[in-house]
Amino acid sequence: MAKIIDGKAISAQIKEELKEKVSALKADGMEVTLAVIQVGKDAASSVYVGNKKKACAYIGIRSLAYELEEDTSQEDLLALIEELNGREDVNGILVQLPLPGHIDEDKVIQAISPRKDVDGFHPQSVGALCIGQPGFVSCTPAGIIQLLKRSGIEIGGKECVVIGRSNIVGKPMALLLLRENGTVTVTHSRTKDLREVTKRADILIVAVGKPKMITKDYIKEGAVVIDVGIHRNEENKLCGDVDYEDVFPVCSAITPVPGGVGPMTIAMLMNNCVESVER
Ligand code: NAD
Repeated sequence: MAKIIDGKAISAQIKEELKEKVSALKADGMEVTLAVIQVGKDAASSVYVGNKKKACAYIGIRSLAYELEEDTSQEDLLALIEELNGREDVNGILVQLPLPGHIDEDKVIQAISPRKDVDGFHPQSVGALCIGQPGFVSCTPAGIIQLLKRSGIEIGGKECVVIGRSNIVGKPMALLLLRENGTVTVTHSRTKDLREVTKRADILIVAVGKPKMITKDYIKEGAVVIDVGIHRNEENKLCGDVDYEDVFPVCSAITPVPGGVGPMTIAMLMNNCVESVER
């Protein structure tokens, strides 16, 4: 019987640990502050930003909200980031993506000081991860490593296969698994015979962005399956990139959707905010 990896419980545990750290920092006269910038009123972004603010309030992190108009110029956005970079009382800066089409996301990501880059998207943060130096790590893959470790799943020496090579999930995921001494293969839309590769995986991380694409035919008996995908089906129910019911009987452990990887992303963002002060 497969073990269900409970991201809700593990993220709650991490938040409790962070709450204690934040109150210890406060006792030493240090406050943790996250600035959250949203441009426009995209409904999904508003939900994400709202959840981030709630998590901050719960843990004791001060959050500063900047809600900018959809037609804010790139220049004005960059000027705000510059101001926040220079503020001693701001530890983390987060710009909610996606940004409106007239703004160059890469320029914005690069404008955030690497010292305050709590999303871990700045090229310097990615470079540091690549060469094994300290830096902020992208929250979703960092959360997956926590899910595995806190579920007692050994990564060292294991065959790890990542489906997807995005900058936000697939690539940093592969680097983190490598850092944990996994033997890592990255697959993508041009991979020939995906099943032949995924069937080798002891740990399979699925970030393909296609609802229920991964069925039991892709899974080695006893594999650990981590589902990063989030989609709404025809009945408005959430589902992942993995066909959970189909895969469950053949794997040894699996993350559900919802309640798997999703809650970990915010917990790791909070962790990065606290780290920005501890550093
Ligand atoms: P993306 O669209 O940027 O990347 C998808 C990747 O899948 C690409 O690298 C592509 O090459 C690969 N791919 C596409 N079709 C393929 C195929 N047939 N075979 C093999 N590889 C294929 O997506 P992303 O930003 O990495 O996100 C992936 C999923 O994870 C999405 O469902 C997204 O909503 C979800 N997501 C969840 C969280 C979370 O907090 N839980 C965070 C980020 C993303």
